[in-house]
Amino acid sequence: MNIEKNSVVAIRYKLTDDEGTVVDSSEEQKPLTYLHGGGSIISGLESALDGRTTGDVFQVTIQPAEGYGDINSEMIQTVPRSAFEGIENLEPGMPLQADDGNGNVHHVIVREVNDQEVTIDVNHPLAGKVLHFDVTVESVREAAPEELAHGHAH
Ligand code: ZN
Repeated sequence: MNIEKNSVVAIRYKLTDDEGTVVDSSEEQKPLTYLHGGGSIISGLESALDGRTTGDVFQVTIQPAEGYGDINSEMIQTVPRSAFEGIENLEPGMPLQADDGNGNVHHVIVREVNDQEVTIDVNHPLAGKVLHFDVTVESVREAAPEELAHGHAH
């Protein structure tokens, strides 16, 4: 069958940035399985998969607007160094996880550090990037009623 809304789709993929660096890959893992049409994967990849079928192999280039969005400068913030008490060796490029107190964990990248302040970036690490996907469609099937009720693939 062809991929349509409410198909359960399994893909293998390799994600490369504009510099040719492999950013993410399903090669070492199980295929990515998702419920098509529900926005559970980035919109550019979802629309590129629409109408494909098992065994299809393709490449697609996705702009930030259909990927992880543009970099939002309001999401780059300077906070007092004291907020990071207990964290040694703070340095630019360091990934951190921050709990916002509502049970949401945010992935944060340290951009700058000095004695008083730390600049952190809470943009998605792939925000602002053009994404190049190599995709293989492994399987396509209809969703089970339970999967539709839950809004995700099992
Ligand atoms: Zn479920």
